[in-house]
Amino acid sequence: MLFNFKTLAVVLILFGFIFPVSGKSPGRCATCGRSIVSSFSVFEGKNYCSEVCVEKLLPTCHQCQKRIISNFIKVENRNYCSDECFDLTISPCEICGLRNRSYVLVEGVPFCEKHAKGPFCEICLLPVKTKADVGDGRLICKSCHQSRAVLTGSRMDLIYQATWKQFSAFSMNTSGSLPVVKMVNKTALNFLLGKTFRDNDIHRSQGFYLRKEETGKPAECTLYLLSAMDEPLVYAVGYHETMHHWLAENYSNVSQKLSHDEHEGLCQWVSWRLCSDLGNVRGVQIIEKDTDPVYGDGFRKVKAVLKEGNVQDVRRWLEQDKGLKVRSVSGQP
Ligand SMILES: [Zn+2]
Ligand SMILES: [Zn+2]
Ligand SMILES: [Zn+2]
Ligand SMILES: [Zn+2]
Ligand SMILES: [Zn+2]
Repeated sequence: MLFNFKTLAVVLILFGFIFPVSGKSPGRCATCGRSIVSSFSVFEGKNYCSEVCVEKLLPTCHQCQKRIISNFIKVENRNYCSDECFDLTISPCEICGLRNRSYVLVEGVPFCEKHAKGPFCEICLLPVKTKADVGDGRLICKSCHQSRAVLTGSRMDLIYQATWKQFSAFSMNTSGSLPVVKMVNKTALNFLLGKTFRDNDIHRSQGFYLRKEETGKPAECTLYLLSAMDEPLVYAVGYHETMHHWLAENYSNVSQKLSHDEHEGLCQWVSWRLCSDLGNVRGVQIIEKDTDPVYGDGFRKVKAVLKEGNVQDVRRWLEQDKGLKVRSVSGQP
């Protein structure tokens, strides 16, 4: 959003001249009502006993509170005695402190035109003042790194356990065990994905579900989650990846029957349902605003069918419309 100074009414007004007059009887002061004895002033056709009484009529500067006796600026019904006073009301850039009339709001925070261009923090989406090093080239601001980023495996584990509980509470019946959770940075995640996925998925990926199946053995399932995401995002990605696990546990022919966008779109839809139910606004926004042809369009395609439905609607769609085959023993091929 660009704050455009030109849209504001700027009015320059030159005040009437104040005459000091002496001589003939002037009557009473238009401000204080006292009768004027000798010396008095005339301003805009009225008589005043003193300059103090004249000044009481003058507008005050909204910034410095002084009476304005010459030219002034009127902006949004407020008066300012000078450009300097008006400029002090402009929000300073969060990075350099510059007060510029053409400042830009990014996510509601003011920045000068130069700093509003980024680069932006991946978590708060604001232009970065000081960059924190997460070891894989991602741009995260120092304040998000300190206060919002999930940086340890133990914290990631705790959040994932909560994710799993919330996922199960959505009546997603997962008789199998929790996948093992591993926290990885972007370099490691890209390396893992590089073996399996298209470029686009690698670029945007924040999680990865890996499943090894061997006849007669329980499947080995690992869920990789990206480090230094903020908590709401860990939840959103966690639901998505857990849905991959749920699908694989419950159906034997997922990738044959679901197109790539339906598969990812369904995982996004489940994440969106849970984020909406649990007040995870950031998760909801990220999913809804996604313009990706697979994840974003896939989500919208699945949402058009399942709407705000529940697990029964998911099962009905998968089994009746898509022809997915229910596994006889959960998790067994
Ligand atoms: Zn007076
Ligand atoms: Zn002023
Ligand atoms: Zn700046
Ligand atoms: Zn940030
Ligand atoms: Zn996925």
